[in-house]
Formats: sequence, C-alpha cells, structure tokens
Amino acid sequence: MDIIFEQQLKPAARDTLSAALVMAEQGIFVSPGFGVENTVCGCKNSTCFRPGKHPFIQERPDYASLDQNEIIEMWDRSDLNLIVHTGRRSNLLVIDIDHRDGGFETYLDELAGLALFQSTFAVATGSGGIHFYFRCFEKVGSRKDGIAPGIDICCDATKRENISYVVGPYSKHISGGVYKPLEPKPIITITSNDIERISAKAKKRATRR
Ligand SMILES: [Zn+2]
Repeated sequence: MDIIFEQQLKPAARDTLSAALVMAEQGIFVSPGFGVENTVCGCKNSTCFRPGKHPFIQERPDYASLDQNEIIEMWDRSDLNLIVHTGRRSNLLVIDIDHRDGGFETYLDELAGLALFQSTFAVATGSGGIHFYFRCFEKVGSRKDGIAPGIDICCDATKRENISYVVGPYSKHISGGVYKPLEPKPIITITSNDIERISAKAKKRATRR
C-alpha cells in the first residue's frame, strides 16, 4: 500500500497541483476547482452557491484525469483548488465529519477509536471537519448524513448528471482555512459491511443525544 502524502511532496510543493499528481499516481481521478480569494469564489459569480467547491471546467464537471501531463496542463493558473473525484472511477469513498448536527461529537465518541479511522489517510478540512479517505471496490451511493447526522458518505453519484467529489489537500476554504493532510498514512479499504457497522454504532450515539 502506498503511503500518502508528505513523503511524496517536497516541503516547497504543498500546493493543489502537487497533491493532485500524488493522488493521480494512486489511481484517483482529479481535476482543478475554483479557488477562493478574499472570501470570494474564483468563479467571480456573486450568486455562486458552492464557493471554492466546484469544478473549474464548468462545461464538463465530470472531466478529470489520472494522466500526469494532462493534469499539469489543466492547472494553468496557481490559484486553483483540487477536486478529488470519488466513487467507482477512483475506487474512493470519503467519510466527511462535519461540525453540523453534532457530527464531530459523534465521531469523537463512537468512531475515533476504531482502527478504520486511525489507520487511513485523512485531511483536515478548511472548515474544521475531517475527510477520511478509503478505498472502496463496491458501489456505494453518496449520502448526506449517511453514517449519522453531520457525517456524510461521499462515493458514487446518485443521479446520472451529478458527480461526486470532495475538495482536496491544500485547497482554500471560503472561511480562509486550508485543507491539510493529517499524518502520512495509506488509504485503507472499507467494505459496505464496515459502513453498516459504523453507521449503526454512530446512529445509536446520535439518537441517545
Ligand atoms: Zn464559484
């Protein structure tokens, strides 16, 4: 298993393009997203509904690559965020722990001690949450609150026209925060049985509160 991230990144190269190249080397499809400057989305649209969280190539939101040269060409400016495509194309599932609806407390009480969460690659999100990355070789639909309130599953898109993704390392959040990888770790495999098991555990906690 490949350990990501810091070993592969030179200290001076902690930017979204370098992170994209490391992800792509491991079979994870990536594309650039709009960055954030002074709390304004790079798309410059005053009614942007997902500031800093949408693909840069708006006509083809599903356009993403594993090819190092193609990715370098896609990153034709330095202020771009990183879109990490989840689901079967990347064999990637991300569990998104959010402060919304007590998600972070549920994580601390029920999930943080589990080997699954201690052993896999994770990214501190720009809003103070955590993205846990897992290899997943089954079809699992993305679901808001899929594990418990405030803990989402990001994997396969549930509608044909939609794409499923997370914002990746070194991207800027609208709040001014930056997405930062936690300790270098491999991305370990999760199964649908694991997901059922942890969501039963987390939901029990959530209903007790
Ligand atoms: Zn925007």
